[in-house]
Amino acid sequence: ANLYGVRDWGADYFDINSAGEAIIRVPNGSGTIEVPIIEVVEAMRLRGLEMPAVLRVENLLDHRISAINEAFANAIASAGYNNEYRGVFPIKVNQQCHVVEEIADYGARYHHGLEAGSKAELIIALTQLKDRHSLIICNGYKDQEFIELGLYARKMGINCFFVLETLGELDIIIERSEALGIEPAIGARIRLSSMVEGHWNEDSGDRSIFGLSTDSLLCVVDKLRAHNMLHCMQMLHCHLGSQIPNIRNIRSGVLEACRYYTGLVAEGAAMGYIDLGGGLAVDYEGRRTNETHSMNYGLNEYCANIIETLQESLDSEDVPHPVVITESGRALVAYSSMLLFNILDVRDHKPGKLPETIPDEGHDLIHNLRAVLDAVELKNLQECYNDALYYRDEVREQFHRGQASLRERATAENLGLAIFEKISALLPAAKRVSAELDDLPALLADIYYGNFSLFQSLPDIWAIDQIFPVMPIHRLNEEPTRQAVLADITCDCDGKIDHFCYEGDIHRTLPLHPLNDEGEYYLGVFLVGAYQETLGDLHNLFGDTNVVSVHVNEDGSFDFRREFHGDSIADVLSYVEYEPKNMLEQFRRNAEQAVRDGRISVAMRQEMLQAFRASLYGYTFFER
Ligand code: PLP
Repeated sequence: ANLYGVRDWGADYFDINSAGEAIIRVPNGSGTIEVPIIEVVEAMRLRGLEMPAVLRVENLLDHRISAINEAFANAIASAGYNNEYRGVFPIKVNQQCHVVEEIADYGARYHHGLEAGSKAELIIALTQLKDRHSLIICNGYKDQEFIELGLYARKMGINCFFVLETLGELDIIIERSEALGIEPAIGARIRLSSMVEGHWNEDSGDRSIFGLSTDSLLCVVDKLRAHNMLHCMQMLHCHLGSQIPNIRNIRSGVLEACRYYTGLVAEGAAMGYIDLGGGLAVDYEGRRTNETHSMNYGLNEYCANIIETLQESLDSEDVPHPVVITESGRALVAYSSMLLFNILDVRDHKPGKLPETIPDEGHDLIHNLRAVLDAVELKNLQECYNDALYYRDEVREQFHRGQASLRERATAENLGLAIFEKISALLPAAKRVSAELDDLPALLADIYYGNFSLFQSLPDIWAIDQIFPVMPIHRLNEEPTRQAVLADITCDCDGKIDHFCYEGDIHRTLPLHPLNDEGEYYLGVFLVGAYQETLGDLHNLFGDTNVVSVHVNEDGSFDFRREFHGDSIADVLSYVEYEPKNMLEQFRRNAEQAVRDGRISVAMRQEMLQAFRASLYGYTFFER
């Protein structure tokens, strides 16, 4: 079944089996291998890896690398394009060692390279890439040290490009390359005027903070010519933005880039490479629309569009076809990671027990509320809502003034909730409802408290209202009878998830199962492999989660290739410059003073010290 829209956003990598468990489906030749995620969670717990945890599936990452490279190879073959594709992975999208290592290792068969935006990332690229045919593309602002590292890499036979972001960099490149006697390979990042839709459209257009203007580009050409280095100018680079939802924007961006490419060829630059940056989207919503978190195209269409546009545009000017580079980050890594967590508690908005009858001498307003409750019908929903709100708020006011008792207030609150619940249940049958009634089900939704920090693990939900698919990873053949929003454990009002996409629409609540006594209730947030792991912060000092990387074998078993235990409290305290050893010592001194004062025994002191030590070196998240 397509519960939670899994077949829309899952790209065939995720589904639900007949036992009601969410599964990872790993493509394997012409078939697939299926692994219930709950089995991985159980295996993790046996290894002391508690929730929350990020689960990475190596096979999915490998499959994405193959998918992108093969889609480009097919588009090139079917169009008769006269050159090849070289992908590079932008390290900033997921800098974790195992991810980059896997891309470098598995990607070697496609000569998939790396994009570095800083010296630290260049150091990663220089040490991880083993394949000589893979490219290293250096973007970002480059100082002398950065440039020297890149030049040495060229000398070692690595195809490392400097992409100029500013004119200033060119002087250092020319000076250092002349001084070291090493020829650079240079690309120019241009500021396209083509604008794209979606959240990251500020990377494109005239106001983009990145890239050279047309005039600066010509200054680059003139300067290189003056230094007899025009043959080093080999690449045109552009990046329209990340998560481009509309394919038409991609076509127009590529077309504009071709015009620049052709212009540089006419100027006498060597050229040979065109780098179209990132932007290949991920359909987080599974709706195939041109909305921000979706996309109105598929991978094959993306590749065909790029190759055909290049070919048509360059052929008309008789320009030889360049090597095509893209820097897809999100589309490469998003699918391979998911965040898993357990639910710690639920707060519902069910009314407490209502009195059978209200005594005659009872509070007038409570009598009124009771009457409203009995009166609710499909035809008077708004009226009853208004009345209930009015009477309930009046009781609150009177309570403030000392004219209503604690028990009267509790009864009024319960009656109010009972009325709202009755109205909410009738809403689906109502023809037209006001915005406030429309909001009612979300206001009455349960709050499921999840053992995770949104700020650490899903920062884009907080920063840009990103939508990620969320669903339970088990109990999926039981009816989810509750409507919920999710809250994290940071106690921050922004630490919640209250927008979900399923059944082809955005909803403010997620159907979930009631907690039961049979064990933990686990949820997964999917497609979180891109940008989430390193943008996260230490809000409330919740640190990095546990992480495991599994490799699924042909027989459906899986190996734990990597496991990282998340930050301990001592780790996060030292990030904010506390010294855990000193803290332990200070606590010991306080305990010793308490012994001297006769407040605790020595045995109690030992117990307290042990508890303190266990917390200090334990997981920052909730432990059962
Ligand atoms: N290349 C550059 C220069 C970028 O700035 C980015 C991200 O914004 C990317 C590549 C990766 O983009 P995406 O993750 O959309 O593929």
